[in-house]
Amino acid sequence: MELLTNNYSQYFKTVTKYYRQVLLKLSSCDLCGEACTDYLLLCQTCVDDLPIFDLNIINGDLLNWPAVNKILPKITFDHLICLSPYITPFSDWLSQLKYHGRFEIAQLMALLLSKHYQQTLSQYKNNKADLVVAVPIHITKWQQRGFNQAHLLAKVVAQQIDLPYDEKILSRNKSSKSQVGQSGTLRRKNLRGLFDVNLMKENSPPEHIILIDDVVTTGATASEISRCLKLAGVKKVTVLALCLSLPSEIKLN
Ligand SMILES: [Zn+2]
Repeated sequence: MELLTNNYSQYFKTVTKYYRQVLLKLSSCDLCGEACTDYLLLCQTCVDDLPIFDLNIINGDLLNWPAVNKILPKITFDHLICLSPYITPFSDWLSQLKYHGRFEIAQLMALLLSKHYQQTLSQYKNNKADLVVAVPIHITKWQQRGFNQAHLLAKVVAQQIDLPYDEKILSRNKSSKSQVGQSGTLRRKNLRGLFDVNLMKENSPPEHIILIDDVVTTGATASEISRCLKLAGVKKVTVLALCLSLPSEIKLN
């Protein structure tokens, strides 16, 4: 009898320990492992340490920064708001989302991006947009990967900033080769004719659209989509992206 009781007590201890570990893991910071309550996956110290663009330096729009303007020639969008340079932890989180399906990370990044956008709205009085759209991926890629990360971000951002999200306006009609390593000119050339804008003819087009992307590198994709949206009658496009990939010669401070 005593043996049974001991076994039970041991079992109870093991189960309790297991659940305590699970609970701790659920509420521990993704970066440092400390307990966290505010942000779903980050403690406040790690939130404060995130490498986020200083809105005061860029006046709320990265296009105001001459160094950025120089690396994004011939763009057709009007504003560029990114949360962070394409560096850790965002670069790691994006690959964890893309290749390991960590959807909770998409939620976290979208919340941070929404907060950043709302700050630009209140500090710099950018006029509020009418609609949110996301950079589309081709249906084959969507089927292979199972999701479009820009779409995951856009859904949450739209909800947070209280704007409608339309996932049908933009479509990508064919898949393109990977653009990594290609020059801006080559990228622009390859992107022509890749996107369709499906706006209802009977409705007047939205004036100001927010285009969500995960990473802006040469700006060519966002620019081509913006060009198509403007051909369809949209007046203004704000690109809201998680990261801006900066050449190493550009110093952040
Ligand atoms: Zn932390």
